[in-house]
Amino acid sequence: MDTYGYPELGWIDAEMTELQRQSLRRRLVDRRGPQGTDIVLGDRRVVNFGSNDYLNLAADPRLAHAAIEAARREGVGSGASPLICGHSQSHADLERALAEFEGTEAALVFPSGFAANLGTIAALVGPGDVVLADRKCHASLLDGCRLSRADVRVFPHNDVGNLDALLGKTARARRHLVVTDSLFSMDGDLAPLPDLVDLCGQHGAMLLVDEAHATGVFGEQGRGVAEHAGVEGRVSVRIGTMSKALGCAGGFVAGSQLLIDWLVNRARPYVFSTAMPAPVAAAARTALDIVRAEPEPRRRLLDQAESLRRRLADRGWKVGGSVSQIIPVVVGDAARAVALATRLLEQGLFVPAVRPPTVPRGEACLRISLTAGHDEATIERLLAALGG
Ligand SMILES: *Cc1c(COP(=O)(O)O)cnc(C)c1O
Repeated sequence: MDTYGYPELGWIDAEMTELQRQSLRRRLVDRRGPQGTDIVLGDRRVVNFGSNDYLNLAADPRLAHAAIEAARREGVGSGASPLICGHSQSHADLERALAEFEGTEAALVFPSGFAANLGTIAALVGPGDVVLADRKCHASLLDGCRLSRADVRVFPHNDVGNLDALLGKTARARRHLVVTDSLFSMDGDLAPLPDLVDLCGQHGAMLLVDEAHATGVFGEQGRGVAEHAGVEGRVSVRIGTMSKALGCAGGFVAGSQLLIDWLVNRARPYVFSTAMPAPVAAAARTALDIVRAEPEPRRRLLDQAESLRRRLADRGWKVGGSVSQIIPVVVGDAARAVALATRLLEQGLFVPAVRPPTVPRGEACLRISLTAGHDEATIERLLAALGG
């Protein structure tokens, strides 16, 4: 065993060998050039079905222009946390634009969606409270639950009956917070938000909805699944990220001024982390303007996704409960998923295999992530390569 001069880390070598044996070892591959529909991954040019850049904005020149202008005006680094002196004009503009976009009193920007979830959950509940999370919630939501030191209850995926029972059973706790993704990142299915807002209303529970994959894609105005379902005003805490359809980086919380003021005081990743670079805030502001002005790409994306799901199902592939641009092709066995992904890659199509621990054991899949940049010919190529 090579311990590279640190014998106390030798146990890692054994663990890595085990990961390799189970086809679960991951490796970094560097992308050259910009994110987009066609990318150079390692030494290969491929069609990209692996990004969350759903509106194809990550490399949009309008965003780059906004970032460059802001860098000239305000510099790159923020130099401090927002409460000290890191909160620039670009941050304030973005927060105003986000609140206006979301139709809420206020919004708050975090360095990442992950940080927004950790900080917000831990600011809302603590010891003596109960936080209830869907089993398929994003890792950042589940980690936020653990970090809060509240009593964590995990309910089966989208099982409103089970959640109702858990809320009843824990009724004596001080506060209750229910957390869920709105559009689940691996299955591409939606949370039953109308049922969840009703249930939370009945039990007096707070509801936190993470719209990471839905912001910019779902809803008439692109605000997400809560808009799509017509329940926006009844979701106490709405979280989104600017790292996916908006093509930038950073997380946000949209809600009442009271909620936002509390987070400014109590969300630790907000208080103790340096504000995101101002150029990123400026680019995200521009991306929001684009989403508002251009509804066509998100509509076309959802139409194309529907058509792709139908054609995959016609060819005998299982796409689970997907109703979105995230389309899992369920394979089951991790080694088989990797083999299939490798075969596609050899044909110039990058579709990542998703394995445990990202998905439960036995649910390995290829995760097709469709974007507004994929045209019909490209989708045909993918279908042909999948055969079946
Ligand atoms: C990606 C993702 C996050 C994290 O957002 P980042 O901005 O990438 O840190 C949070 N929640 C969900 C549901 C996500 O898919």
